[in-house]
Amino acid sequence: MIIGIDDTDSRQGMCTTYLGAVLIEELNVYGDIKELPILVRLNPTIPYKTRGNAAIAIQIDTKYPGRVIEQVISKIESLAEMQSEKTNPGVIFVQDEDYSRAAPELKRFFHNTVQHVMTIESAKNLISKLGLTAKGYKRERGLIGALAATGAMLDDKWDCTYEYLAYRKKSLWRLPRTVDEKSVYRSDLTCYPNTWDTIDRTNKVVVCVPKSPDPVLYGIRGKDAGTVKSAAEMIESETVDRSAVYRTNQGTDMHLINVFSIKDIEDMQSYVVKGTVKNTPYTIEGGHTIFSLGDSSGYYIDCAAYEPTKNFRYLIRSLMTGDNVTVYGSVKNQTLNIEKIRINSLVTKYETKNPVCPVCNKRMKSAGINQGFRCRKCKTKAYSSAKLEIDRELEPGIYEVPPSARRHLAKPLVRFESNDCKLFPSR
Ligand SMILES: [Zn+2]
Repeated sequence: MIIGIDDTDSRQGMCTTYLGAVLIEELNVYGDIKELPILVRLNPTIPYKTRGNAAIAIQIDTKYPGRVIEQVISKIESLAEMQSEKTNPGVIFVQDEDYSRAAPELKRFFHNTVQHVMTIESAKNLISKLGLTAKGYKRERGLIGALAATGAMLDDKWDCTYEYLAYRKKSLWRLPRTVDEKSVYRSDLTCYPNTWDTIDRTNKVVVCVPKSPDPVLYGIRGKDAGTVKSAAEMIESETVDRSAVYRTNQGTDMHLINVFSIKDIEDMQSYVVKGTVKNTPYTIEGGHTIFSLGDSSGYYIDCAAYEPTKNFRYLIRSLMTGDNVTVYGSVKNQTLNIEKIRINSLVTKYETKNPVCPVCNKRMKSAGINQGFRCRKCKTKAYSSAKLEIDRELEPGIYEVPPSARRHLAKPLVRFESNDCKLFPSR
């Protein structure tokens, strides 16, 4: 049986992955947990998401499906943040005999939920069409993610990464976390690039330890289950109450839709789109840097590097009108939030300066309106100004925001195979 769960947390606490870790321990008495549990991140533009828009799925081989269903429901009712207006849990159960019949539509639903905006209505329709056992609470929004997570479990063809999550003792949930920073840096140094986003070295931030009041102590992301486990073993901290390794679509760019034209871009979806920089990037109040991207369709879209992307904004600020780029990111309020940028080609720009004296090698002075230039020292004359190529201090290639500003779904360059991945600032 596959169990999908979503939306049990709130900004004030809990985490659906924690509920999953607890269930994995408790359900053991009813059967064998098959496969690693799954953690899926859904469309990052959804405004009613609680924090990371995550849903989970667990697969269990059991002779007591009724008991499992009862246990899961009672656990959700006791742990979910039901009092929060924004918490609307949902749970789905897919029985063994329904796998092959339900798989094609659940897989499609999963992919659609990562890229598009799905309605509660569409989730309910699919549940009744497939005759699945389901339970939604309050507005029942969690049914969407719960269905998607079961689809992810039934689909073995998507790119995945892994996350090791360590959880805190309940008595400490709302208190500051105790994690030895040096040991986190050591773990990162040893395991990178097989683990990533543990530390943001440019901004000197420990990324893997959250600040929210939930049960997570830290999360280590990496390319396989073994690596994330051994990376976690190197971290010294307060007592780890329990832990779980999830297979996940984090760091895969699964949310991105390739479009050939800016004309095809819609709000609340995420894209890879190519175009030309149409103005000099400018910075608005709050430190967000913006430029307009255009293409041959005649359409434009504002692209933004927000303040939390720190140094990445200097890269964006050095773009010039006419540069050809490919941007990767989510569109909200007609603005694309840049996650990555590929600089395809840079325009050559010139500036005019007074010519240099061929005798003294000093820059000449103007000799007056329409009088050309003259060297002060040796009086040599010149009649035209010098045209100099501006040093762009940039090179074509693909660049990303720092780990501390990365969206869960965004694929880090460390996972790219192409050899034009660049560091900015370069070192
Ligand atoms: Zn001279």
